[in-house]
Amino acid sequence: MSAVPLIPGVPVIEDGTLTSTNPVTGAVVGTFPVAGAEDLAAAVAGAREAGAWWRRLGFDGRRERLLRWAGAIARRLPELTALMHAEGGKPVADATVEAAAALEHLAWAAKNARRVLRLRRQRGSIMLAEFSAWLEYQPYGVVGVIGPWNYPIHTPMGSLAYALAAGNAVVFKPSEYTPAIADWYVQRFAEVVPEQPVLQIVFGGGETGAALVASGVDKVAFTGSTATGKKIMAACAETLTPVLLECGGKDAMIVDSDADLDAAADACCWGALTNAGQACVSIERAYVVAPVYDAFLDKLVGRVSKLRVGGDADADLGPITMPGQIDIIARHIDDALSRGGRAVVGGREAVQPPFVHPTILVDVPQDSTAITEETFGPTLTVTKVADADEAVRLANATSYGLGGAVFGRARALSLARRMRSGMTAVNGTLSFAGMGSLPFGGTGDSGIGRIHGADGLREFARPKAITKRRAPSLIPSTTFDRTPTDTSRIVKIVRLLHRHR
Ligand code: NAD
Repeated sequence: MSAVPLIPGVPVIEDGTLTSTNPVTGAVVGTFPVAGAEDLAAAVAGAREAGAWWRRLGFDGRRERLLRWAGAIARRLPELTALMHAEGGKPVADATVEAAAALEHLAWAAKNARRVLRLRRQRGSIMLAEFSAWLEYQPYGVVGVIGPWNYPIHTPMGSLAYALAAGNAVVFKPSEYTPAIADWYVQRFAEVVPEQPVLQIVFGGGETGAALVASGVDKVAFTGSTATGKKIMAACAETLTPVLLECGGKDAMIVDSDADLDAAADACCWGALTNAGQACVSIERAYVVAPVYDAFLDKLVGRVSKLRVGGDADADLGPITMPGQIDIIARHIDDALSRGGRAVVGGREAVQPPFVHPTILVDVPQDSTAITEETFGPTLTVTKVADADEAVRLANATSYGLGGAVFGRARALSLARRMRSGMTAVNGTLSFAGMGSLPFGGTGDSGIGRIHGADGLREFARPKAITKRRAPSLIPSTTFDRTPTDTSRIVKIVRLLHRHR
């Protein structure tokens, strides 16, 4: 039996066992066997065989089973959200919204995989008119999925659902902070797909993740910190294993002069503080144009001040799930305050482990760590800017590029397009994450590749191009039996095709 954990929420990995605990009470939530390299080799071998069966089921067979999986989760939703509260500390309302978004993606991937990936005719080329052109997207085989703890079903589901719908088998290593939640929904999968181990789960910390990367999987889909993402990409380089990296962010929200300020304040409050700010797409910086700055800040402070922090299921903000993050949050607040920033809500005294109360910082220098590094807590900097152009410039002055938001009317869409990020919500925050049809992913330190949407399905498949002869060659370009006459006909056709001046 594992030792009692010293710090609530910190998983204990000891004697081949992983024990997860509640971040507020320290109560043990689950114990799981830790997988080593041999277990991973066996899991991948089993998944490879199961994957061949899964692929033979075809799009319709997989769709049916994946939708049944969604149904099995939906029927027992309160059980799942109670577990999410017990293991991660997340308030139940947040857990419910997260699970609903995860199921949206599961259903979207199941229903759209055929349309996006199936074998289809493409337009051919005049120079090769004797060939028809075909394209399909074939599964990789076995995908290794490594997940974080902050959205323990929604985030992994962005890889699991899309990889499975594309015809892959999966070996999944959830975060060591939230293994019981992952185990719960993988069990629901096994109930609806009892025939073969198409989706397998392995438990452990970073070492198990590294072993999964080295286990011979055909693609690695990682969601987590930028630092770990870099290590995984380096490891994948050894075998040229393709890798999807969904990493951190430092998302900005721009408030323009014609914004609905009540709506902007409400959305900013939620976008910055939902899940106690532990979202990769949390709003961590707001840039507000001078004419509306004071009014916006007043409304924001009023809205934030009503929130309640606690370890109960109905709190607005729960605890910081990963205790180690509290030091980083405190360091960012300290840096902002010691360099001329002011806290208009919260401040240093907001840090009360395992909780951090909402903190809004103003007048923070742009080179403070509160502005430059991912904080991953319930803090927000609000900066006054001269105009929307300055807002865009400062919003984009980051090594990250994940999501973001714009509030405004006339210029809102064009400002959204100018933000250097994978996703931007206009007159809302984070809404793109719950939309099955839209790709999700970032640029720069936020990662490489996309989950969700058609791009997310294609992320888990290799394009396969086929040309098929349908007639003898009129212009014999692909043979050594060409005559000088053939070559001069090719010249004439090329000139005709490219006659633009
Ligand atoms: P983390 O990088 O510490 O861990 C993520 C996963 O990687 C865990 O399962 C961990 O066990 C595993 N791991 C650790 N070291 C490894 C190694 N060397 N090789 C293989 N696997 C290894 O991140 P975290 O603290 O769990 O998650 C928080 C981070 O995730 C934040 O930066 C957040 O922004 C990011 N995140 C990004 C997205 C997104 O979609 N872009 C979504 C959620 C979270």
